[in-house]
Amino acid sequence: MEKRTIRVEKEPNTRLPQGLKRPRRRNSMSSRLLILLGVIILAILALTGFGLYQKHEKSVAASESRSRVSSIDISQKVAAEESAAIKASESASVAADPTYGWLKTAGKPNELPILMFHYVAEETDNNQPAWNSNYITPESLSAICEALVANGYTTLTADQAVAVLTGNLKPSNKMVWLTFDDGHENNYTNAYPILKKYGIHASFGMVTATLPSYKGTDTTYISYSQMLKMQGSGLISFTSHTETHPDLSTLALSDEQEQLTGSKKLLDNLLHQNTQVLVYPSGKFDSETEKLAKEAGYKVALEEGEDMAVGSGNLFEVPRYRISTGASPNYVLSLLEAAVRYNTANTAH
Ligand SMILES: [Zn+2]
Repeated sequence: MEKRTIRVEKEPNTRLPQGLKRPRRRNSMSSRLLILLGVIILAILALTGFGLYQKHEKSVAASESRSRVSSIDISQKVAAEESAAIKASESASVAADPTYGWLKTAGKPNELPILMFHYVAEETDNNQPAWNSNYITPESLSAICEALVANGYTTLTADQAVAVLTGNLKPSNKMVWLTFDDGHENNYTNAYPILKKYGIHASFGMVTATLPSYKGTDTTYISYSQMLKMQGSGLISFTSHTETHPDLSTLALSDEQEQLTGSKKLLDNLLHQNTQVLVYPSGKFDSETEKLAKEAGYKVALEEGEDMAVGSGNLFEVPRYRISTGASPNYVLSLLEAAVRYNTANTAH
């Protein structure tokens, strides 16, 4: 009994009565399990959190990258828009001011050689009027245009020529203005393709009665639609050669006035321009014609004259050089050289 008692005392907790459990041992196990579970949960949470964090980091990085890309896109777009705006502004400047970027004279007026052409056709063309000094073959015109380009000449529109003659600016010291009188259809079919090929500017003097109802029913003259096409090229400008090509010096004042104002009004309306140049038919005019031309709103009137046009001269008696068949490129270049020397010396630095 004693031994049993002692054993019982020595090992008071080793054996418990049946049905009882050891709360302390069980509590310890549960705690460990709970701690383990807690650790596992924490680990899962930590891993999930890290994953989410990484995901977040990636998302932030991507967002920043997108933001950088979009900011690059925006800066590129802004730069492109600014560049386009500058170009548009330059074009607008050129449109608003045809003398934009031009050289300045040293004080004396400009000299401007002006060439006068009429028909551009083959000599054998039976549909054309008799061969005379008003003709040039397409081959001759082409050779002249090629020489002008090869020698670096700047060819002018009518408005540019007016600016050169009335002001102290110039696009170049090597200038020439090509003018074609009468608006014959071969100026469209034969001359225009050559001018276009070489990028040469020229003015066509139109006899406006040849545009009945603007439909171009008379096929021997340039039609309205052909005018629009050439105007759209930027190479060809149009001047008035009156309504019916009369000898202005013989007309009654009222008829003369109608020839000058009527043709200008028609061209102004048809082409949405301010027609500044009048070309006297057959180079004939008198002092009354000059007065009426000024009153009608013209700035320059062209005659024949075989001389150099100078800005200081009477701008209602501006001379031109007649160019017809047989005119060699060297002959044409020789007409221009004196003006090049004069204009070069007359340049502000
Ligand atoms: Zn004429």
